[in-house]
Formats: sequence, structure tokens, C-alpha cells
Amino acid sequence: MIPVRGYEGRKVAVLGLGRSGLATARALIAGGAEPCLWDDSPEARANAEGAGFTLTDLTRANAWDEVAALIVSPGIPHLYPEPNKLIARAMAAGVPVDNDIGLFFRSWATPDWDELDTTPKVIAVTGSNGKSTTTALIHHILQVAGRPTQMAGNIGRGVLDIEPAQDGEVVVLELSSYQTELARSLTPDIAVFTNLSPDHLDRHGGLGGYFAAKRRLFAEGGPDRAVVGVDEVEGRFLANQLSQGAGDDRVIRVSSGSKLEGPGWSVFARKGFLAEWRKGRQVASIDLREIGGLPGAHNHQNACAAYAATRTLGLAPKLIEQALQSFEGLPHRSQLVGEKDGVRFVNDSKATNVDSAAKALQAFPKIRWIAGGLGKDGGISALKPHLGSVVKAYLIGHSARDFALELGETPHEICETMERAVARAAAEAEAGEVVLLAPAAASFDQYPNFEKRGEDFAARVQALIA
Ligand code: ADP
Repeated sequence: MIPVRGYEGRKVAVLGLGRSGLATARALIAGGAEPCLWDDSPEARANAEGAGFTLTDLTRANAWDEVAALIVSPGIPHLYPEPNKLIARAMAAGVPVDNDIGLFFRSWATPDWDELDTTPKVIAVTGSNGKSTTTALIHHILQVAGRPTQMAGNIGRGVLDIEPAQDGEVVVLELSSYQTELARSLTPDIAVFTNLSPDHLDRHGGLGGYFAAKRRLFAEGGPDRAVVGVDEVEGRFLANQLSQGAGDDRVIRVSSGSKLEGPGWSVFARKGFLAEWRKGRQVASIDLREIGGLPGAHNHQNACAAYAATRTLGLAPKLIEQALQSFEGLPHRSQLVGEKDGVRFVNDSKATNVDSAAKALQAFPKIRWIAGGLGKDGGISALKPHLGSVVKAYLIGHSARDFALELGETPHEICETMERAVARAAAEAEAGEVVLLAPAAASFDQYPNFEKRGEDFAARVQALIA
């Protein structure tokens, strides 16, 4: 655990008592602060009390007297579509609003770091898609390299739950836009921006607000190195704004698809090969085509970002290549869950938005596509250019009929349930085809979360092919 510094003997309100809220409470206590805990949900409050915490009713009129800061969980809106009522009250009372990420950055470095030979570093990863994969991949490369490393944030453990730094340690954090928007301290040594596509627009008042939230990772502390995906205009703008000139190698540009051979530092993937260029010359190249844990151009983008981030730490290309080869991929992201008679079954339940589903559809040539769930604004019309690989779609969930209307000429069938979709797709699939779950929709109409949806898919596949 990282004890929170700077609030010794002071009251700090914590709103939201899920996993990260309770971890924050513990870290505040460990640092000598007095947490005042509250959650709008009676269930979460009961759970916190069951875990031995004392609650403070933050809805009371005088509850904000002497509160030094309010720490909120990422699921609670602080701005759009409208601020949670208690956050609005804290703002009106002039109480600074922060989150566990902000507390982490102000607390992680301690005076005893003077004794260390190699100062610990933080690599923080943000972007619309590929954050978890890139974060896990960086962590894996560091493990293979024998560097002490911990992974936290939106993935795995809460940031305040990690262990205090060891000599030379590298902490890898996955940060969502909700987290970067609110954190009052945000000072990674290396910051990574994977890509940008519309998502969570209601929470950010539109695409501009969403991009601005992610950009804070690069603005507030000024990381030593910025790894920036430049396949969208926002990434090109960010890279441009951060660099002093074309040859400035504090910014490493990353692309999946474009050659980046300028005078600066770049890492790009084309036709299955990763290339690193520096000062107008190629320095290294890696064949990504047979790396099972990283299928498709989207994963090649993640590989480039992770490669670039770990190169800034001085790791050798050969070693990074070895590590890429042993990366197994993450569950629910292009994950192979079964194979029978030449048909592969791939679980990409995490493809909850149109952009990630488009990437999954481009990763395989012949697809029996299981899609649908709780559809997002705009439906799937943006997927039209990527339907060429779809042999047939098997539609499930709330959005099944809407998706059917948008699919037009592409063969499709309304299956409603996962059980029926897997059975129908498996029955019709031929050797060489992939049965792919890439829903392009949220899971909440039929499942508690995307993990449960992916597990359901995998279990039904296993039952059929066993
Ligand atoms: P995040 O943590 O940003 O949601 P994940 O690594 O969990 O990213 O991947 C989310 C979804 O996006 C998955 O469906 C995955 O296959 C897909 N994906 C992964 N990397 C990329 C990328 N670089 N670009 C677009 N889609 C991606």
C-alpha cells in the first residue's frame, strides 16, 4: 500500500466505496488522515461497514466543514452529463476534488528514494482502445527483462494498493479519461497515448472534452518522454504540440499502417513488421506476423507503443522481441478460446465500441460474427466498410434488430441469446473461418459486465467442441 502524504491529521472525504474507494480509505488512514466515507448506494455503505469502516453522512448540512479534499471514484460523474450532487456541493464549498490517481502521484516518491541507485519511474498509458493490452504488454516486457515492476490503475490493482517502490522499479498504470480528467497531480515519467475514437461522450460533453481529458496526462507534469499514436488527427496534433521541432526525440511517434521516417524517433508497423526509426535511419525491425498473443493491425499498434515505451528505458530490441513472442494476450481481447475442425473461436467481448469491433473485423479474413448487446449512439453504421470479412452475422441482445437493419446485404440472423448464436455459428462455420464475438455494444442488457459475456461465450464454445 502507498500511504497518502500531505493530509496528516486532516479530514478527507471519499465518495464511492467500491474497490478503489476502500483502497483509498486504507491508504489515507495509513498516511495519518481521517477519511470521511460515503456512497450514494446503501448497499455499498453496508459493505464498507461490514469491512470495518465508519461512515460519515456527507449529505448533512455541516458535513463539509474542515474537509481538506474530496476523493471520488471514476464511475461517478463530476462534470457531465451533470455533477453528482455531493461533488457539486464540495465544489460550491471550495473543497478540492481529486481521485486516487492524484493521491498516488503526490504520495509515491518518498525522501528515502535518496538511498536508491536507480530512481523508480512511472509509465502511464491512456487512449480510447488498447490501453489494457499495451499496459499489460509493457509490464510483461519489463518482467522478461528482469526489472522490478508493478501494474495498476484501470487494470488489476488500484494505484494506492501497490507496494512502495523498490530500487529501479517501473510502475505501469492504465488510466481512463475519467481518471486523467480529475487527477490533481499527474506526473508520469513516460506517457503513452494509444489512439482516439469517440467513446464516453456523455461524460465529457463531446469528443473535444474527451480528448482534453486524455491530454492532461501530457500537459500537467510534462513527461520526460511521450509515446503518441499518430493515426488520428488528435494524436498528430498532440505530438506536434509536444515537440520543439521535427527531430525532437522526447516525442516518439507510433503508427499502425503509416511509414514514419522523419528525423525524429518513431516506431511503426506495416504489413506485419515493426520498424524503429531514429534520426532518419532504421534501427531495428521485428516480424510480428506469427506472434499469437498479438493478432491484427490494432495489436501491432499496441506492440509498437509498448516497444517504444520500453525502448525509452534502454531495453534492447532483441529482448523486447523475445518478450513480445511470449505475451499471451489478455482475456476477452482477441483471445483464442477454442479450435475444432479448422474453425477458430475468438473472444473479443471487450470490443464494446464500434472502433474496437472494426479492428477485430479486420484481424481475420473470414468471420462468423457474433454481435449486439446494448447498442451505443450511432449504431454500427461506421462498421460498413469493414463488413467484407463477415461471412454471416449472428445477432444477440437488445440491439439485435437495429443491427440487422444496418447490416443490409450482409447475411445475418437474429439469435437473441449467446447460446443460440454460438450454436448457429458453430454449425455453419467451415474450416478456415473464425467465429468471433466482437459485440460493438455494451453487455449490460444481458450480463453484469463484458467479462461475464466473454466467459459465457467461452463456456458455450467449450461445451460444443469438447
Ligand atoms: P482498453 O483498455 O483501452 O479498453 P483493451 O486492450 O482492453 O483496451 O482493448 C479493448 C478492445 O479494443 C478490445 O476489443 C481489443 O481487441 C480492441 N483493441 C485493442 N487494441 C486496440 C487498438 N490499438 N486499436 C483499436 N482497438 C484495439
